[in-house]
Amino acid sequence: TDGIVVAGGGLAAQRACETLRRAGHDGPIRVVCGEQHAPYDRPPLSKEFLAGELGPDELRYRPDDWYREQEVDLLLGERAARLDAHARRLALDGGAVLRYDRLLIATGSEPRRLPGVAGRDNVHELRTLADAQGLREAIAAGRRLAVVGAGFIGQEVAAGATRAGARVTIVEAAAAPLAAILGEELGGWFARLHREEGVEVLLSARIARLHGGRGVEAIELEDGRRIDCDAVVVGIGTQPATGWLAGSGLDPAGVLVDGAGRTVAPGVFAAGDASRPFDARLGVHLRTEHWEAAARQGAAAARAMLGLPVAASPAPSFWSDQHGVRIQYVGHAHGADGIEIDGDPGARDFTATFTASGRPVAALLVGRPHALPALRRRLEAHHDERTAA
Ligand code: FAD
Repeated sequence: TDGIVVAGGGLAAQRACETLRRAGHDGPIRVVCGEQHAPYDRPPLSKEFLAGELGPDELRYRPDDWYREQEVDLLLGERAARLDAHARRLALDGGAVLRYDRLLIATGSEPRRLPGVAGRDNVHELRTLADAQGLREAIAAGRRLAVVGAGFIGQEVAAGATRAGARVTIVEAAAAPLAAILGEELGGWFARLHREEGVEVLLSARIARLHGGRGVEAIELEDGRRIDCDAVVVGIGTQPATGWLAGSGLDPAGVLVDGAGRTVAPGVFAAGDASRPFDARLGVHLRTEHWEAAARQGAAAARAMLGLPVAASPAPSFWSDQHGVRIQYVGHAHGADGIEIDGDPGARDFTATFTASGRPVAALLVGRPHALPALRRRLEAHHDERTAA
């Protein structure tokens, strides 16, 4: 047999390998890792690593010995370039062709690019350890950092860089951070949090032009405001890293899979940020881009590869840490028509529950790290009641 090949060496890949071995699979496993590193944990890149509290080795999921003992073959610095699903061959960009019996697509996400910044020296994005190392050097004490985009990554970078002594300005096009997900009122809470911690937050801020030569020296907004900066971080969202699937018959805009990671191509599975699994609760395919989902989907796809049963997925959730405050989110707020606040937003301790026709569908938790499991059960109970009705 040609064994199992995993394209991508991140969280979903790691969980798939562990699940395969634990379930007793003893055939060959090869992992095509686009980076020069064995699989490592990304969330700390914008948190503890950026703040200088963790080193690169502490991010690794497993030491080298583990891969040796488990006979998991890591192909570091190799990239999947083309898939022939019919012939079950995966071509790498170095020219090698891997034949597989089963393939897991787990190439994750890549940052969306801001137009006009290609080739500029001091513009950073944050997806990989190499990105984070470059950014860490750029945010030394006192330097002026402009953060474009107040999504979770942008806000975490703003918080981490402030802690590291940088002077940070957030430039956000919407009227509030995260307004598209949380609405303007709750999004406004995030703007206040950053301002209280010394971050300048510019909202409804549209970029007109970038000043400078090889490096960006200032960002000029459409309303004439000018942000002088030593470095820029762009955090304007991600897209699935699946462009290499063009021509394979699978969707390069995120691979459609069922609840167990199966694609329409025989023997091909997908998991994590690169995939769009079918969400049985909402009845649509949804890409999640969160740690918990990638971990669970990687394990689920591994079980499906071996023909083992796969449990239904729980309501999705993620977390973020900003200025020492734990923020969590669970469920889907789409279609919500009300918000109930419990607690004290001013004291950074509250739960905002999104409701649809009076039933909870999603919740934002601030400063309540232990409340998530109970909330998740509450959302799921209401959902089951609704689908049974
Ligand atoms: P990834 O972890 O992205 O792994 C994919 C791997 O495949 C990468 O190593 C990539 O280089 C490689 N690759 C790409 N293309 C190819 C190719 N063609 N061939 C071979 N290899 C390739 N989630 C949360 O829930 N909470 C958080 O607080 C949080 N913080 C985050 C902070 C940062 C800075 C980042 C970047 C992400 C954060 N996330 C967070 C998201 C979470 O890390 C991702 O959802 C998770 O890593 C997805 O796992 P994955 O295996 O699908 O993809």
